[in-house]
Amino acid sequence: MKLPYAEPFRIKMTEEIHQSTRAEREQWLKEAHYNLFNLKSSQVFIDLLTDSGTGAMSDKQWAAMMTGDESYAGSKSFEQLQETVHKITGYTYLLPTHQGRAAENVLFSVLVKEGNIIPGNSHFDTTKGHIEFRKAHAVDCTVDEAFDIDNLYPFKGNIDLDKLEQVYQTYPKEKIPFCLVTITCNSSGGQPVSMENIRQVKELSDRYEIPIIFDAARFAENAYFIKTREKGQENRTIKEIAKEVFSYGIGMTMSSKKDGLVNIGGFIALKDEHLYREASNFTIIFEGFITYGGMAGRDMAALAVGLDEATEFGYLESRISQVEYLGHQMMELGIPVQQPIGGHAVFIDALRFLPKIKRQEYPAQTLANEIYKEAGIRCVEIGTLLADRDPKTRENRYPKLELVRLAIPRKTYTQNHMDYIAAAVKNVFDRRSAIEKGYQIVWEPNILRHFTVKLEEI
Ligand SMILES: *Cc1c(COP(=O)(O)O)cnc(C)c1O
Repeated sequence: MKLPYAEPFRIKMTEEIHQSTRAEREQWLKEAHYNLFNLKSSQVFIDLLTDSGTGAMSDKQWAAMMTGDESYAGSKSFEQLQETVHKITGYTYLLPTHQGRAAENVLFSVLVKEGNIIPGNSHFDTTKGHIEFRKAHAVDCTVDEAFDIDNLYPFKGNIDLDKLEQVYQTYPKEKIPFCLVTITCNSSGGQPVSMENIRQVKELSDRYEIPIIFDAARFAENAYFIKTREKGQENRTIKEIAKEVFSYGIGMTMSSKKDGLVNIGGFIALKDEHLYREASNFTIIFEGFITYGGMAGRDMAALAVGLDEATEFGYLESRISQVEYLGHQMMELGIPVQQPIGGHAVFIDALRFLPKIKRQEYPAQTLANEIYKEAGIRCVEIGTLLADRDPKTRENRYPKLELVRLAIPRKTYTQNHMDYIAAAVKNVFDRRSAIEKGYQIVWEPNILRHFTVKLEEI
């Protein structure tokens, strides 16, 4: 009998979480103005809002916390982090930052100018924010397969080479500071980019003399998918794959809250000393001195260990198999989910789940709220609330898909929790025809409304 995968760790410390009654949850949700971001974590039983900074650390990471060096300049913890980043990415120059968007802020302050064009694969929200804040434009060149949630294409994070070349032909190279490759592609559902695609993007970009930068928040999960799905890669280690991927870029921004396996932190890593010098100035203004950049020494020490552990196959197999397990549970129960299941989350298709709810009544938000009421599970809307209004017309922008994302924190929940989640969603699915009304907005801010919007039941 083939042995199933099992977590390559055991649990040494636990944290109590509380079950509540449906009546309590209905009251709390009302008090939260039907916005799950407004709930207290104590009102949540299983929290799937995000996988960012919500994971558990290993005993070795906790041990590293105790030996963190808090020197302002040149700390040992910085050196450890630099060595590890160099070993894994091949990049020599490291600038720590307090999280991923801060790395974007620092690096883009050097590279992105008004009127610039930044092609890439479904840029992440904060990344797009930092591009548009500088009056530059992000051009999405993701393959079309990404937008069909039933398409089983194994690398739905890939860049469409024709779309990319179109951008390179339309604008002069002075206008395109870099091509941004996001691994895995968060906005298309934690979908991976293949090694072959990265090589092709590199070759094409070389012809137009455009460098590549990686948004590498989930680079280890991406390497796992390359190893397990791409022909010719199966016998390589995760670290070998990651290093080859990074060899095609001039640098990376990182949100350490994902594949760094820590609760806070980020960094920029670069090949080139000149670019590093320029970015250093912005690090000092925005983040802190160049050897800590907003991070405590102990957090850098834990991150150094975390990066090493995140790039081990056993950990990645248990991580991604757990997400897959939940996705397959739901598929067996007939729940419409995005396929293939992504690396960090399961996405439910709310339009198919709740066909009676009109687009202007926020079907994905309605579904997320129903799942909370059902079982105290908090997930997040990736739909019309998130897509926000058109800045000019102030009309709702209706994205192609209305999704509910169930993001799985790393090393935090057990298989029983996954079964519980699947059962809860199934219960909502069974009573879906009784869910006939959604929500309307009673108050919203001017931008990024999903975080603070207030809703009421129709
Ligand atoms: C989370 C994330 C970021 C931003 O990082 P923060 O640490 O949340 O600031 C950038 N890009 C991608 C792909 C991400 O997933």
